[in-house]
Amino acid sequence: MEQPLIMTPGPTFICEEVRNAMARPITNPDLDMAFLEYYHDTCTAFQKLFHTNNDILILGGEGILGLEAACASLIEPGDRVLCIDNGIFGHYFADFARMYGADVSYFSCDYRQAVPIPELEAFLNENKGFKLATLVHCETPSGITNPVDRICPLLKKHGIISIVDAVSAIGGERALVDDWAMDIVITGSQKCLSASPGLTIMSVSADAWHKILNRAVPIAGFYCSLAIWKDWYQKRSFPYTQPISDIYGLRTAVDRLLADRQALERHAAIAAAVRKSLLQAGLELYALDGYANTVTAVQEPEGVAFADLFDAMLNRHDVMIAGSINILKGKVFRIGHMGENCRIDRVFLALKALDAVLRDLGVNLTCQIHDEFITRANRSGEVSSEPVAYTQADGK
Ligand SMILES: *Cc1c(COP(=O)(O)O)cnc(C)c1O
Repeated sequence: MEQPLIMTPGPTFICEEVRNAMARPITNPDLDMAFLEYYHDTCTAFQKLFHTNNDILILGGEGILGLEAACASLIEPGDRVLCIDNGIFGHYFADFARMYGADVSYFSCDYRQAVPIPELEAFLNENKGFKLATLVHCETPSGITNPVDRICPLLKKHGIISIVDAVSAIGGERALVDDWAMDIVITGSQKCLSASPGLTIMSVSADAWHKILNRAVPIAGFYCSLAIWKDWYQKRSFPYTQPISDIYGLRTAVDRLLADRQALERHAAIAAAVRKSLLQAGLELYALDGYANTVTAVQEPEGVAFADLFDAMLNRHDVMIAGSINILKGKVFRIGHMGENCRIDRVFLALKALDAVLRDLGVNLTCQIHDEFITRANRSGEVSSEPVAYTQADGK
């Protein structure tokens, strides 16, 4: 089966090296101490990616497991939790908190803009008593990156533990977990890491561990408990059998990312070139500021139904793009340019197809999107990287 070019904001393209790593023979992860060391080294690699000395945990479940596990492990019934809400993922984070008995308050702001710091600061000065706050680094449905470098230190100043959904950010946006006092930071294998879906990677600060290990009420559940992971390496024992093949793939992916010294610069440069080329052609972005470097959300042009756009992109040009979800469903379409998809050649192909399809659907474009993109992308020196040839065969 020929695979289309998958340009969605996750899952992303998985390179052959990562797929081959997943095909390696397995071992018994509980008895093979060489595997235990390999796993520990994998956690160390993530400490580098997160810029942290905090513990790294890898959970066998998609990013959502990380969000729920953080809530399950930290929240005791009646705890006050602040939900920082400027987007769909941010808003629905509160549902996980409530499932574990949290008394939730929202700090809600404009969904088309990054979280405003002065307003948040004023809110925190007036509203006290929060144990935790949930927030999202990159709001994938709307293509907005929040200033976690300002938000997390502010929360820390108020004695509030932060739980950060950085699933579509880590690897594509700068994240200095220790410098920015981020307590729990969660990412997933299938976004900027470009590994197979199915793993959560998270960092846990000393303050977060203290709360997790000093509860009045025990954690309800086992698989969602982070406490079962405390000191696994010192004890030389995993809490349950680890998904070895996924770990092999993940390790290869994180090593590739760490070796790629210009990954963040390339994400910023390609994202900027995508935005400018779309705007130049007369399209409108959903975000008004805080533009994400990993995904761009574009307002659906007048008279164009997303289903027609999606079908034409896929069936005529072999490119898969995404719509959005919830309140943005049918209003925006999204192009992911994260991880292995953050390459000039892949983005160029996607934009060339988009240009042709929008013209076919009767949209009046004021320039060629892909030409504009390539000119701008080539102009920014940082983007240059070893070329990654996309071939259909590679996606088989
Ligand atoms: C992808 C993503 C998740 C995980 O959600 P899925 O829909 O299961 O992929 C969580 N948070 C954010 C911000 C994401 O982008």
